[in-house]
Amino acid sequence: MVNILTIKSFNDNYIWLIKDSQSQHCIVVDPGDAGPVLEIVAAQQLVVDAILLTHRHYDHIDGVEALLSESDETIAVYSKDKLFSKSLLVKEGQVLSFFGGRFSLNVMEVPGHTLDHVAYYNKELLFCGDTLFSAGCGRVFEGTFAQMFAALSRLAGLPDTTQVYCAHEYTQNNLIFAFHLEPKNEQLLKYIQLVSKKRQQGLATIPTTIGLEKALNPFLRCQQSSLVNSLQKQLAIELSDPLSCFTALRKYKDHF
Ligand SMILES: [Zn+2]
Repeated sequence: MVNILTIKSFNDNYIWLIKDSQSQHCIVVDPGDAGPVLEIVAAQQLVVDAILLTHRHYDHIDGVEALLSESDETIAVYSKDKLFSKSLLVKEGQVLSFFGGRFSLNVMEVPGHTLDHVAYYNKELLFCGDTLFSAGCGRVFEGTFAQMFAALSRLAGLPDTTQVYCAHEYTQNNLIFAFHLEPKNEQLLKYIQLVSKKRQQGLATIPTTIGLEKALNPFLRCQQSSLVNSLQKQLAIELSDPLSCFTALRKYKDHF
């Protein structure tokens, strides 16, 4: 069993701290900034065993060097590409084991936002960096639209109950776009109200779940006629398959 602590950094980034419930050991996911992580580590007297990196962008990795230099213990740093001299390289299908084998995460390669992007997941949890967001998805910077669509489709194939820990609080903004496309989606309307309440109270809207995202995230709904029809109407184009729907949707959102 683990507890997951939410660490805010920069404007809207989340760094996730996975704490072993039976010890003071923990894992840090995407520390773009060391300061807020070191504060919690000191306050709760934690020992960082490992750092998991989803991809190379600065707001996910810039805190790594400081975390390594501030620790007396050896910290394992996992990433797909060699981002640091101490990087341990991960690849598709690999299983990472932590806390004396009490907790493990699988590696899934999800290129699209960047080519080195990976997600870490198990039966309950998903850490997906900038691939899937609540009600949205990451921009396609380095990969192809087909790669990003395939990555998102794989994430959507995880169990509905999977808790999704993405790296940004973009939910409210994403929902404006989602509502624009599916103004009659009941679950979307309910979620908009819930998110608005949470944000007014300064609360995070993350984690979300795969089940919820499949019900309202336009980027996971490229097979749904309500979404496809609405997009075809708005863009006045014919969309012949889910990939062309996803591509049109992502480009539309980029300029929305
Ligand atoms: Zn990124």
